[in-house]
Amino acid sequence: MSDCIFCKIIRKEIPATVVFEDDDVLVFMDIGPIVKGHALVTPKKHYDPITETPDAIVAKLHLTAKRVAAAQMNAFGADGVNIMQNNGAAAGQEVEHIHVHVIPRFSTDGHHWNWNAKKYDDFSEMNKLAEDLRKHL
Ligand code: 5GP
Ligand code: ZN
Repeated sequence: MSDCIFCKIIRKEIPATVVFEDDDVLVFMDIGPIVKGHALVTPKKHYDPITETPDAIVAKLHLTAKRVAAAQMNAFGADGVNIMQNNGAAAGQEVEHIHVHVIPRFSTDGHHWNWNAKKYDDFSEMNKLAEDLRKHL
């Protein structure tokens, strides 16, 4: 993917602050941290979205995210960690090369997600969606 910004980082064509790499993954600091210390875990090979990514790579990304989360707790004294992975513009994805966000959280960081929980009209509305989902699992 010649135009992909994360592929360019992986090919070392543009700089990034790398914190870990192996044959499969590169972990680097997000240039626009939600909370300072925010890191991105991305596969060295271009895949997107998660539904088109091989299971072994999805597993590796998330196992690596777990390691980064532990490192953020140990290195920064983070009180918690958000692990996020966006798919599609509707979900807020900007870079179309799969990546997992690992965001250190501190009780004092002042960040709040806009987690605006909704209500179903009634149980039958929720049950209908569950029924549709079951058919595809
Ligand atoms: P998305 O919205 O696609 O889930 O997240 C993309 C992330 O990549 C954003 O958090 C953004 O700050 C980060 N990002 C975009 N371009 C660059 C870049 O050139 N270098 C680094 N280090 N991070 C980037
Ligand atoms: Zn790419």
